[in-house]
Amino acid sequence: MEIKAIRGFNDILPDEIGKWHFVEDTVRKVFEGFGFSELRIPILERTELFSRGIGEATDIVEKEMYTFTDKGGNSLTLRPEATASLARAYLEHQMYNFDPVAKVYFIGPMFRYERPQKGRYRQFYQIDAEVFGVSNPMVDAEVIVMLIQFLKKVGLEKLELQINSLGCRACRPAYREKLRAFFEKKSFQLCADCQRRLLSNPLRIFDCKVETCKEAIADAPQVTDSLCEECQKHFAKVKEYLGDSKLAYTLNPAMVRGLDYYTRTAFEVVSYDLGAQNAVAGGGRYDNLSQEIGNLDTPGIGFAIGMERLISLLPPGKTFVQYPRVFIAALGEETQRDAYRLLTQLHLEGIWAELDYEGKSLKSQMRRAGKLKAPYVLILGGDELKRGKAVLRDMEGKNQEEIPLADLLKTLKEKIS
Ligand code: AMP
Repeated sequence: MEIKAIRGFNDILPDEIGKWHFVEDTVRKVFEGFGFSELRIPILERTELFSRGIGEATDIVEKEMYTFTDKGGNSLTLRPEATASLARAYLEHQMYNFDPVAKVYFIGPMFRYERPQKGRYRQFYQIDAEVFGVSNPMVDAEVIVMLIQFLKKVGLEKLELQINSLGCRACRPAYREKLRAFFEKKSFQLCADCQRRLLSNPLRIFDCKVETCKEAIADAPQVTDSLCEECQKHFAKVKEYLGDSKLAYTLNPAMVRGLDYYTRTAFEVVSYDLGAQNAVAGGGRYDNLSQEIGNLDTPGIGFAIGMERLISLLPPGKTFVQYPRVFIAALGEETQRDAYRLLTQLHLEGIWAELDYEGKSLKSQMRRAGKLKAPYVLILGGDELKRGKAVLRDMEGKNQEEIPLADLLKTLKEKIS
């Protein structure tokens, strides 16, 4: 039987990779400009990092984690997101001893056992940015400004920034109870999952996509009406700072995000060009996460961007595909050796060149050069070679010139690179 990739796991092929490189390069440029450094985390973590960090009663932890027991009997999980791991690394390496404020970013694959569909995969890439150690709302606005700046730089349009505040340990319990009382009255409308959520974690009902649940959610009490004074002040400041940065936003009181660790500010960027899975990026503040997973009480805020969704939105027209700069067409076995030498010299100079390995006819080699879209073909052979010359054909201009073999590499470098 032919072996194929696992459902929901994708290959990224060479003709798509240019877009990925462009996005990754832009991440590094923009994020580092905002003072962020890369922090690389492992793919596997102890399961409790996520069950404690993300929350037991979340879809991710309940249903979507790739968890297994290793040969030593440890329960391990393929990371479903990066924030918990980055927070663990910040604490484990006591980065706060160097400077309490740490700004870090990460790019890599995440794993969730979700139902695959367009824009939703079981292995998907995220771009992550986190700031640890600051509770000032200024930094909430700052990370949002960075996110929007990055999305602009990669050329995304028709985006909407949505913000909300999810309260804190002081005011969330009362809101949760209010919600529970509200949904209990509507429990006949709720799906089986939400009936369960009603008991374990009523906020999660907001994530449900079942039609009757969505109807029940429509007039549910809003979290922003239950914020304590501190949370209200924080949210007002975030909005003020976003205004200072001239960032437009809409308030979305039903946006609760799918992870339990969020406190206060939550935000999402949605695209009107995506289908059902329209969130390109999401994030928020998580002031209790480090206490849940470590032994330090330090605030944090960050976001994650879905790379596949982002890449599907890149403006068309911009070509990211690379082509060989020159195709070397050698005629005859003897000449192949000259072609090999030239090929490797060009490679050592960092110039992408191709040749024919099969000893095919000139016509067939020219056809391949055309298919590879090489702008130049260097022909080694025939009468010209006997005269100590090679022919360089410009495939676009359709003209050609002779180059003396003696300074082939130098002339070629000048012409094609
Ligand atoms: P989350 O970590 O759930 O807040 O997701 C952050 C971003 O990651 C989302 O806005 C999506 O763009 C992306 N994302 C989340 N889950 C998936 C998935 N299963 N497949 C593809 N992208 C995803």
